[in-house]
Amino acid sequence: MAEKIVIIGSGPAGHTAAIYAARANLNPVMFEGFMAGGVAAGGQLTTTTEVENFPGFPEGIDGTKLTQLFRDQSKNYGTKIFTQTVTKVDFSKRPFKIYCDDEMTEAEAVIIATGATAKRMNIKGEHDFWQRGISACAVCDGALPIFRNKELAVIGGGDSAVEEASHLTKFGSKVYLIHRRDKLRASQIMQKRAIENPKIEILWNSEVSEAKGGAGGLQTISINSTVDNSMRELAIGGLFYAIGHKPNTDIFQDWLKLDETGYIITKPGTTQTSIEGVYAAGDVQDKIYRQAITAAGSGCMAALEAERWLEGLE
Ligand code: FAD
Ligand code: NDP
Repeated sequence: MAEKIVIIGSGPAGHTAAIYAARANLNPVMFEGFMAGGVAAGGQLTTTTEVENFPGFPEGIDGTKLTQLFRDQSKNYGTKIFTQTVTKVDFSKRPFKIYCDDEMTEAEAVIIATGATAKRMNIKGEHDFWQRGISACAVCDGALPIFRNKELAVIGGGDSAVEEASHLTKFGSKVYLIHRRDKLRASQIMQKRAIENPKIEILWNSEVSEAKGGAGGLQTISINSTVDNSMRELAIGGLFYAIGHKPNTDIFQDWLKLDETGYIITKPGTTQTSIEGVYAAGDVQDKIYRQAITAAGSGCMAALEAERWLEGLE
């Protein structure tokens, strides 16, 4: 028999949808993923330390701890959670088919909350030094012994880049924040944090083109100036990417309308995708706000919209 509702993904959007669907007696099934898109079940918040802007935690809360609380709440209200990655879907007709390799589950309604994955630069030498000096997650890897007391660099100019650079100052002797423009994209409070941190030096109008090193790992990077095309070599012990994310939508591209950058298109003001009965919530459909609380809010919307739609079917 088909499940009433299947939720794919397990960040704040997926778990909020699950809590609402469970409390509406829809017996939701969640596929939380197994390192799907390189991120642990629980989503992007598992890659950060303090979350200071999610209401209800006046002193802030550790990202992984927050995702564990989301999961506990989903389970406590009756969500069945499977630690599996959805590898294929068939939305050609209802019930919709959801595959985890050869295992198939049918569902009357689907909520997609697969979030997004950190982008890579694909510079020369990246492959050779990936996880040997180059990483896309300072919070996950920054405390490793190879980075201790070394000069480190973060690429990017958004909130993630500033947060990661600040985090790395706990371990490195100095952190370069390398940004391709002359203005950070990060929020004002985060910009202030970077500019005022004596261990952070911002390299403006700079692009990294190559990573070099030896048997011991990464040693130098080549930096081009976007202003005068000059080039310099910078000796560093670690390079961290914080250049944004790609929405996890590859398995949906044959079925749903996506925008030019791969985000799922939803009907404005709703979570309705281009197929009736399929909803999308969180970062997978939001390239503007991309916050835990907005992801959670749209997860709530998706569950309420799915619930009403299922009622209509009956
Ligand atoms: P995600 O959190 O991306 O979770 C999606 C989940 O779905 C992942 O676990 C993934 O593994 C799983 N998945 C993907 N594909 C599949 C599949 N095929 N099958 C099954 N499962 C799948 N926001 C804030 O509000 N405050 C902060 O302080 C903050 N700090 C951040 C720090 C960092 C380093 C980063 C990267 C982001 C931060 N954000 C913060 C943004 C916030 O984490 C995201 O907006 C939010 O997690 C998005 O939630 P989501 O539910 O849409 O997806
Ligand atoms: P963003 O998309 O906001 O920023 C990406 C940054 O990387 C931009 O500065 C961009 O440059 C730069 N960049 C992109 N591609 C390249 C490239 N190929 N080479 C060099 N630089 C590149 O992503 P974030 O991950 O920083 O943030 C995502 C969302 O998560 C945001 O909404 C943010 O607010 C949220 N977040 C919130 C936090 C908080 O509230 N504490 C912490 C972390 C994230 P350019 O500016 O030139 O486009």
